[in-house]
Amino acid sequence: MSELDDHQVDDSPFSDFLGFELLLEEQDRELLSRVRAFMTREVEPVINDYWTRAEFPHELVPGIAELGIAGLAYDGPGCPARGALVDGLVAMELARVDPSIGTFMGVHGGLAMGSIQIGGSDEQRERWLPAMARMELIGAFGLTEPETGSAISQGLATSATRDGDEWVLNGDKKWIGNAAFADLVVIWARDTEDGQVKGFVVEKGTEGVEFVKQEDKIALRVVQNAEIHLRDARVPEANRLQRAESFRTTADVLRVTRMGVAWQAAGCARGAFEHALRYTKQRQQFGRPIAGFQLVQDLLVKMLSNVTAATAMNARASQLQDAGQLRDEHASLCKAHSTVRMREAVGWAREVLGGNGILLEHHVGRFVADAEAIYSYEGTREVNTLIVGRAITGESAFV
Ligand SMILES: Cc1cc2nc3c(=O)[nH]c(=O)nc-3n(C[C@H](O)[C@H](O)[C@H](O)COP(=O)(O)OP(=O)(O)OC[C@H]3O[C@@H](n4cnc5c(N)ncnc54)[C@H](O)[C@@H]3O)c2cc1C
Repeated sequence: MSELDDHQVDDSPFSDFLGFELLLEEQDRELLSRVRAFMTREVEPVINDYWTRAEFPHELVPGIAELGIAGLAYDGPGCPARGALVDGLVAMELARVDPSIGTFMGVHGGLAMGSIQIGGSDEQRERWLPAMARMELIGAFGLTEPETGSAISQGLATSATRDGDEWVLNGDKKWIGNAAFADLVVIWARDTEDGQVKGFVVEKGTEGVEFVKQEDKIALRVVQNAEIHLRDARVPEANRLQRAESFRTTADVLRVTRMGVAWQAAGCARGAFEHALRYTKQRQQFGRPIAGFQLVQDLLVKMLSNVTAATAMNARASQLQDAGQLRDEHASLCKAHSTVRMREAVGWAREVLGGNGILLEHHVGRFVADAEAIYSYEGTREVNTLIVGRAITGESAFV
């Protein structure tokens, strides 16, 4: 218990009910405070407006870059190398104020930087990671296709054909976050010669690549998702991720980033809970704050339980990740559990706001909508359940 000696659980925000932040070193706690201050001061006041217009707040990027949180857990060139637990708590902190900004960072600092960190050669890491950590280059991750989502490991149809020192890419991608404005996209494509899935860094301006922004989303409206159409797009061999020889590498990236999404889900639930608690203390009905009604307290406590249970599970898994012991099924259990608890919690938060729960100005409505995307991306509940089910039974129930 030595880490609790100098700090009291009351030093943490009230919604960190069991003081998980106290597991962090001082330096990482300070980082978390800076992230919290930035999100509260700079993001919360403006984000509903961007959400309504389905636009991305590009002017906030320099401020986010200054926080030094891109690729926080990675120890590649120029990366902060601060570890998985603080990375997770930061992901929770971002989503606690805005799940879209959390997703933007999850895609850039998690999926795109992670692909290069895990699949790239030393030279490729040097070439891209420092600029990505400084957020001078923004990345995206192109795996999902219009016809194949959950079954992508088997059904990935985008092709890559070697032609001398180049590769020719053909196919379509869908849902690719940040792709509408990214400087580089990691495209996963199947080598027509050996049938293996490989990663290619496709840089902005590459001929034969078309990005079409996906419109009319009802969740994460700030995130700029795009369809990508690759038609004889030529990429140099130097841009093929040299250590990514099969889908196993893609899965290694996803194991890590799935934990990030589990943390985002805990953050989304926590943000909704905090708005709900504040509201119930102010809102008066029958001559008293609605926070004083037993049925309202029941929902508030259930929300807090969900947030706390998800945080506890995720914190332990992140510790395993820091110790090099995180398995696919650990990350899948966390992602499935946290997103189910999130979905319940945001619904209860909306419930205690009554009609105001569907007005954007009270924020909870945005969390309710955004939760739907977090619930489905990076492996649906069903897919993550099947991964855990296979691990505990030894039987694959995918098909
Ligand atoms: C907002 C958003 C952002 C995204 N960002 C990215 C990104 O940046 N990069 C990227 O590559 N992808 C991205 N995705 C794609 C995302 O990962 C997929 O949506 C997800 O993997 C699910 O695939 P799908 O939507 O095609 O659903 P499907 O695979 O068509 O699934 C539909 C339903 O069938 C169920 N199902 C499928 N197989 C089984 C089975 N064997 N047993 C039981 N049930 C099953 C699923 O659980 C689900 O309920 C994003 C998606 C969203 C919504």
